[in-house]
This record gives sequence, structure tokens and C-alpha cells, in this order.
Amino acid sequence: MISRPDLLTTFNGLLQPERFRDYGPNGLQVEGRMEIGKIVSGVTASRALIEAAIAVHADAIFVHHGLFWRGQDGCVTGWMKQRLALLLAHDINLFAYHLPLDAHPELGNNAQLGLQLGLVVQAQFGEQNLGCLGRHANGIAFASAQALADRVSFVLNRPVVLVDQARKAIKKVAWCSGGAQSYFEAAMAAGADAFITGEISEPQAHLARECGVAFIACGHHASERYGAPAVAAHVAAQCGLTHEFIDIDNPA
Ligand SMILES: [Zn+2]
Repeated sequence: MISRPDLLTTFNGLLQPERFRDYGPNGLQVEGRMEIGKIVSGVTASRALIEAAIAVHADAIFVHHGLFWRGQDGCVTGWMKQRLALLLAHDINLFAYHLPLDAHPELGNNAQLGLQLGLVVQAQFGEQNLGCLGRHANGIAFASAQALADRVSFVLNRPVVLVDQARKAIKKVAWCSGGAQSYFEAAMAAGADAFITGEISEPQAHLARECGVAFIACGHHASERYGAPAVAAHVAAQCGLTHEFIDIDNPA
């Protein structure tokens, strides 16, 4: 067991949220019971995840996408009321870390995605240095963007979108988890031959064709499935807590 303030201090010490300009509050978003023995981690504080956490008697939920974001109207109605009502009725703490969870150099979404894909990080790029630039862990180039896309698709177990005009070997790979399609130009400036992120928007397809840099969109959720359980498992081991990752499938 650990107290809520001690668990918050542990997460904050590891993820250092004060270093980031973020789109929502990082840390304890919803206060629950004081003593915590079991953590459930997940990607998003959706109603399905909250219900699953209740079913396994979690004392705390640790997520990448919390409940509160800049630009919301701030009203506790509809889906927000339902999610909050479940958390409050069951006295469950909600911890959420957004950019700090993307960026942690060993346990974060980007580091863990690279590990899953067999990529090693050589440099960081883009706004707040969130993007990773690296290469195949074996030091060899991918024969083509299609070969890299096939690997991503196999590892993440889902179809991916590939835009590739150049049809060249891929030596330098850039990646940034989630909805980081706006990092594409920074990835090209950093010298990437291919860029992997969760989502693609209309302009990036043209940029990929015109600039000869391949774009792979592998799913926002799929690209962010690894950071939350890595951090929660690490903290649970450190503090003697039980941890379980619950994946609520998401096609997006
Ligand atoms: Zn995200």
C-alpha cells in the first residue's frame, strides 16, 4: 500500500511534468481513496476503462489521456458526468500524464514504441523535443518503406497507412506517438527517410509524395499502448503495488 500523496510524488519524480507545456493538467486529476494497493493502467480514461478498473477493484487508474483538456467547456454533463460519477462513486484516483508520458527516455510512449519496433534512438527532434530519430537496431537499412510499414503492422497487429513515393531504402526513421502528424516537417528537416506516427491528415499525404519522405500512420491508440503500462509497472514494482494494464481496443 502507498498513500495517494506519496504515489503522486513518485509519478511526478519519474515523469517531471513541470518540464512540459501541455494541453491539460498532469498528475492527480480526480481524487479517490487515500490508500492505494492496486493500479490499473490504460491509454484513455474512457468509461470502458473506468468500468473495467472498477471490476478488478483498482484503487487508482493511470492513463495517458485523462479527462481534462484545454478548450473544453468545463461542464460536467453527458459523458463527462458519467465518467466522473463512476470514479467518485467508487472512490478511485485518476492519474493522467500526457506529454511527460510520451517523452520519458526509457518508459515513455516514444521510447517503448521504438523498442517494440526494433528501433534505437539517436536524437530527438521537433517541438519540446518529443520526436525520436533513429535507425534499425541491427544497424541495417530497411529495404523499403513498405518493409518498415510491414514490420509496424506486424508488431502493432493492425493495418497501417503508408504513403511512399520515393521507394528507396530507409536508413533514418523518425517517430512520435499519437496524433503527431504536425511533426512531419520537423522530421524531414531532421533528415528522416520515413516518419511513423499514429494519425495522418490530408496535407501530409501530399508532403510525403512531394518531398520523398515516407509517412506511416499506425493508429493513435496503437502507438500509445506501451508507455502507461511501462510506467505503472515500474512504479508498482518500486512501491510494492499490484498493477494490471487493461487495453480497451480502439480502431483510431
Ligand atoms: Zn495521444
